[in-house]
Amino acid sequence: MKTIKTSFWALLFGLSLLWLATSLPLPETLNVITIRNLLMQYSGVLAIGAMSVAMIQAARWGWVDRWLNGLDKSYRLHKWLGITALVVAVAHWVFANGPKWAVSLGLMEAPERRRPTGDAPELGAIREFLNSQRGTAEMLGEWAFYAAVVLIAAALIKRIPYRFFASTHTLLAVVYLVLVFHGIVLLDVGAWTQPLGIVVALLMAGGVVTAVLALTRQIGRRRRVGGKITSVLKIPSMKVTEAEITLDAAWPGHKAGQFAFVSFDRKEGKHPFTIASAWDPATRSITFISKGLGDYTERLPEKLAVGDEVTVEGPYGRFTFEDGKDRQIWIGAGIGITPFIARLKHMAATPDGRQVDLFHCVPEIAPEARDLLARDVAAADVDLHLMIDSRDGLLTGARLREMLPDWASASIWFCGPAAFGAALRKDLIAHGLRSGAFHQELFNMR
Ligand SMILES: Cc1cc2nc3c(=O)[nH]c(=O)nc-3n(C[C@H](O)[C@H](O)[C@H](O)COP(=O)(O)OP(=O)(O)OC[C@H]3O[C@@H](n4cnc5c(N)ncnc54)[C@H](O)[C@@H]3O)c2cc1C
Repeated sequence: MKTIKTSFWALLFGLSLLWLATSLPLPETLNVITIRNLLMQYSGVLAIGAMSVAMIQAARWGWVDRWLNGLDKSYRLHKWLGITALVVAVAHWVFANGPKWAVSLGLMEAPERRRPTGDAPELGAIREFLNSQRGTAEMLGEWAFYAAVVLIAAALIKRIPYRFFASTHTLLAVVYLVLVFHGIVLLDVGAWTQPLGIVVALLMAGGVVTAVLALTRQIGRRRRVGGKITSVLKIPSMKVTEAEITLDAAWPGHKAGQFAFVSFDRKEGKHPFTIASAWDPATRSITFISKGLGDYTERLPEKLAVGDEVTVEGPYGRFTFEDGKDRQIWIGAGIGITPFIARLKHMAATPDGRQVDLFHCVPEIAPEARDLLARDVAAADVDLHLMIDSRDGLLTGARLREMLPDWASASIWFCGPAAFGAALRKDLIAHGLRSGAFHQELFNMR
């Protein structure tokens, strides 16, 4: 999580510094209007900067996946930037309308409307053109703002079904393109010849390219592969369904621990699932294990059948156990066991000599699931600690440290409910674990 936190603050801090460098020296007369104009420019730069980076992330570029340490983390940063853009855009809107409201309430005199002249006389013709577009840009910007508020709110309000969110979220690409036009016209023209203008232009260019890719449904296209279901295993008592799929030739292979977007049903669209198998180019077989956690996954057991065509987009993610440590401790809670199943299968085929302890924490476990897991841990020579809530109680940092006295020499790999992971992480770091040694896969992208 450290990388996305650093990237988030670096972006906001960087844009603020560039804006300040462009705005100094401040106007000699600092009054309500000049301060408002400064805040308009500053909030505009932050909002379009945050939206542009969030837009660029939406394309699931490989380099972003690598840089941010996994797409699951990238989506978390995307969400933070969406919230930032929303908050800053609301402030921008208040700054824009504030004087008007104050005048209508008789709190201040109507300010004189002036055409921006300022510096950069060499940009005369460009300035004239941009000035001619101000009215349009302001009007479009206002409506785009209202649309952005509704669409970002729909993304953040979890009560709104995922499917509705997913089908409307792409509209933000249209809104973004309008706001780019708004930003190009209304950013102080002199800024374009300065580092701020260059950075904003680059961010906008990246955002525009991605918006076009999103609207033409190109995102992830090159990573999409067809396949056919070859077997389905259902464990009704755990609401778990395992589907084995033979993939077409285009699948590039994957590392144990990675995930993919799987579309079992074109109408429903894709859902992220961890790949619960190691890659074997000879069989081209891949496995997904889903648990009924919501309206679609609850219905999967009765929907999936041998012979069904599926689409798989990926692989994504960096939860791949590669940290050079000889000692690892894995915690897979509930369906969060899936990346570990893949790694167990990989280690059974290619032993790496690591000493590994696996904690599997579950409210209950069906005999066939327990036997399958026992078989995999035996084949991978991994020590299993099966913790059934009602029988063994909950795993805490204190219990883990007590059960494995050499825990501090290990790296920790966690997949399961976010709060459980956060509690374990907090405890272990408080007892000396390096923050970089705690790896967590986020099973929630919204
Ligand atoms: C990286 C990653 C790996 C995952 N691996 C597995 C796995 O191996 N096995 C498994 O059972 N589950 C896995 N999940 C969770 C799985 O994607 C969701 O449980 C599933 O999408 C829920 O869909 P639903 O319609 O049943 O639930 P809903 O009731 O619609 O939603 C339940 C939750 O799932 C999220 N969700 C719903 N639809 C989607 C979607 N299309 N894309 C992203 N999130 C969605 C919602 O935000 C909500 O928080 C993983 C999630 C992520 C992010």
